[in-house]
Amino acid sequence: MFAGHFAPVTVLQRFYPNVSPYVFTLGVGALDVIFGILTYLGIEGFSPNPQAGPMGVDIHCNYSHSLLGSIILSFIYGIATAGRSSAIIPGFLASFSHFIGDMLVHNQDLVLDPFSNIMIGGTNMWGNFPTFAFYFEMAFCLVCATQSHKDSHTLLANGLILFLHFSGRSGTSELLQKVFRLPEALQQKYTAVIITSSFIVPGLILGYILNRKKSLIESSKRK
Ligand SMILES: [Zn+2]
Repeated sequence: MFAGHFAPVTVLQRFYPNVSPYVFTLGVGALDVIFGILTYLGIEGFSPNPQAGPMGVDIHCNYSHSLLGSIILSFIYGIATAGRSSAIIPGFLASFSHFIGDMLVHNQDLVLDPFSNIMIGGTNMWGNFPTFAFYFEMAFCLVCATQSHKDSHTLLANGLILFLHFSGRSGTSELLQKVFRLPEALQQKYTAVIITSSFIVPGLILGYILNRKKSLIESSKRK
């Protein structure tokens, strides 16, 4: 799941209108940013597997994407983004929504904790039903869009998320195939940079769009 991770952002913004949208737009990708950093350091990463669905890789993410790891990291993210309101929940929800999204589509690469190695998910949808997974993620984006506000900024943000979904379809696997032709030492470093930026860049753009909306509302209230 890629674009689908961003889909809950506009729903969360509806429930927490006073929280900075950046908390949500960057939070939904936080676990993958950690995954990117750990991949760079050689602690987590990918290995090629043609049977693993359209991406063609097995993912090793026992720290960033285990249930325990996700809860702890999301909790830290919640504290870090709580601000003056000291509300941990919005940041926690954004970050933890990533784990739930991954549970729905990932192959069997999500463990309970990094120590016991007990496998708890995902559903293998990616590997077994790649086409269905694509439309499932699209439907998920659309359902979330129906649950968010319908002003022009939110519509633009949801449109961008849908665009990410379609553009990511061929792009991601092609990019990964290219990376796996590089010398082994460079492979993980390149994937790390790709993964990290593919969440931070859209996160910043979506945050900017939704933040514009927030400041417009606030300035109209002041008048
Ligand atoms: Zn992930």
